[in-house]
Amino acid sequence: MAGEQQHPAYIWWNGEQRRWEDATVHVTELGWSTVGAVFEGMRAYWNEEQEELHLFRLDEHLARLERSMRLVRLDNPYSLADLRQATLDLLQANETREDTYIRPLAYAAETSGKRFSQVGFASALLINTTPMPTHLGTGVTQTAKVSSWRRISEDVMPPRAKNLSNYRNSQLASSEARLDGYDTAILLNTSGTVAECPGSCIMLVRDGQLITPDLTSSILESITRDALIQLARADLGIEVVERPVDRTELYLAEEVFSCGTAAEITPIVSIDHSKVGSGEIGPITKSLERLFLDVLKGRESDHADWRTPVGVLQPTGA
Ligand code: PMP
Repeated sequence: MAGEQQHPAYIWWNGEQRRWEDATVHVTELGWSTVGAVFEGMRAYWNEEQEELHLFRLDEHLARLERSMRLVRLDNPYSLADLRQATLDLLQANETREDTYIRPLAYAAETSGKRFSQVGFASALLINTTPMPTHLGTGVTQTAKVSSWRRISEDVMPPRAKNLSNYRNSQLASSEARLDGYDTAILLNTSGTVAECPGSCIMLVRDGQLITPDLTSSILESITRDALIQLARADLGIEVVERPVDRTELYLAEEVFSCGTAAEITPIVSIDHSKVGSGEIGPITKSLERLFLDVLKGRESDHADWRTPVGVLQPTGA
């Protein structure tokens, strides 16, 4: 971030880096362009000692973007390698030296003045970055409410993709929870089992086992969820089970946390005014938080293949 600016100097848009101020569209594009948009949310973590920025699971996020685009039939003129390079160049151009959230967004192009049925499959793509410090290890916790809204189901919308329109469902649940005095919501799916939170997946601990709704429970195919399953199993020797999860298990769990790119690991300490375990952050959650932070920050070498060093200190294109 340059000087007093509240935004980065550049964004990447349709194949070029543009100055933030110059990246504008006509207001009439607002109509249909975002209805079919899909996006990604990924994060890069700054390691102060190494003076290096580490992008977490870049290729997996870009692969999911491609899958999301394919699912909603947006044409993608860029290869994974193009988008990979564009992301790295953008972080370098913005001289990013702090924990940062990166959001690629693919939306329907040239929709101005068109009727919905006239909107085609052509896409426009942008990537923007915004500072987002980690909250891992800060002791932050949340209270949750089981939402009166059900998570969108596979026969109506595609829950497994990062489809922008899905987030109206998330927003309804999230605002209901906040207006009712909770920090977040937990959504059940149309079968009545636990799905996920508005913008993150959910994991619980029962009898020392880590349990998370399976990928057919109307959840996003989360990259963090996948990473934590691997870390818990291989690094911490914890048994992990992916299966349908009943609502009542939420109230009986010893530990519950949400997980995702923005959520990282966020302990949930009370659900519907029922204390989770002791009401404090549990031991398995704590050890996963510690390990995950080391992985994200590049303080360990076992999972180096999950990190792409950005090389912020090198000149662009080096
Ligand atoms: N579920 C939803 C609805 C989300 O928006 C997110 C955040 N992308 C997640 C789960 C977690 O996914 P990931 O770990 O890939 O960020």
